[in-house]
Amino acid sequence: MNAIGVDVGGTKIAAGVVTPEGKVLNEVRYPSSGPTERLLSSIARAINDVKDGYEVGGACLAVPGNILATENRVIFSPNLHTIEGVDLEQEMRRRTGFDITVENDANAAAWGEFRFGAGARYDHLVFVTLGTGVGGGVITHGVLMRGAQGAGGELGHMTIQATGPRCGCGNRGCLEALASGTAIQRRAREVAAEEPNSALGRLAIERRVLGEDVTRLAEEGDEAALSVLEEAGLWLGIGLAGFVNIFNPEVVAVGGGVSRAGELILDATRREVHLRARSPARDLVKIQPATLGPESGVLGAAALARDESGEYVLGT
Ligand SMILES: [Zn+2]
Repeated sequence: MNAIGVDVGGTKIAAGVVTPEGKVLNEVRYPSSGPTERLLSSIARAINDVKDGYEVGGACLAVPGNILATENRVIFSPNLHTIEGVDLEQEMRRRTGFDITVENDANAAAWGEFRFGAGARYDHLVFVTLGTGVGGGVITHGVLMRGAQGAGGELGHMTIQATGPRCGCGNRGCLEALASGTAIQRRAREVAAEEPNSALGRLAIERRVLGEDVTRLAEEGDEAALSVLEEAGLWLGIGLAGFVNIFNPEVVAVGGGVSRAGELILDATRREVHLRARSPARDLVKIQPATLGPESGVLGAAALARDESGEYVLGT
C-alpha cells in the first residue's frame, strides 16, 4: 500500500503520497511556522489534503533535530522548538486518524536514498548532505543507525581539524565548519580578499559572494573558485575516510545543495579517501552524488511509515 512522507522544515512542510516503488503520486506544500497548535494543524492539513483520494497505510514525519524515533518524540529542534516534547502520535491520530511515526530528517533522507536512490542495490550506505550545515545518516546491514538516544549519525560534527573554524555546535573544526555551504561561502570571501584579481575577487568587490557563485565561477574555470571547492572536497574526503574505516559502506552518497558542484568537489574527496582510508574498505566504496535531490526526505519518511501492527507500510 502507499504511505505518506512528511518533510517538516523550519520554513515549509512538504507531504507526499508514495508508492511501494518510490513514486510520488501526490504532493502538497504549506508554510511551517507559528505556535504549537498552528504548526500541528498545518502538518495535519498537509496529511489530510495529500491523502485525499488515495489509499494510504500510514505516515511518518521527518523533523530536523534530536528525535527519539522509538517514542515518536522531538527532543530538541532548533528551528521547531514549538513541537519539542509534544505527543505527536496522539496529536496526529486525533487530527488525521493515522498512527504516525517520527524520524530525524537526515536519517529519513538517508533511508530514502537507501530504499529508492543511490543505495537501492546495497545493504551498507553512508549518506552525507551538504547544505547550510552538514547532515547525514548511516545504514548498516540494512538497518538505520540511530544510537541509544536517537543522536547517532551526526556525521557533520566529527572533528576534522583540531584548531579549525568554530562550528554552530560550539566545537572547532567540525566537518560542518569546513565543508558546508556556509563554510564554502566564508572561505570564498577569504580567498577573494587574498586574490582580488581573480573572477572571485572581482565579484566580491561588487557584492556579497554566495555558494552558487563559487560553483558557477569554478565551472567557468576561475582558479580561485576552483581552489575553494577543492579545499572543501579535501575536508569532506578526510571526514569520509573516517566513515569508510568505521562503517565499510558500499556507497557514500553525497546530497544537499552544495553537491550540485558535483565532481568539482568530489574529485578531491575521492583522492583524499584513497590516501587516508584503509584497504579493502577504500577499494570497495563508491563515492557518488545522491540521486533523489530534495525529495529524499519525503520518500524516506514514507518508507519509514508503519501500519497499525508496527510493520513498515512500504516493506523493507
Ligand atoms: Zn559541530
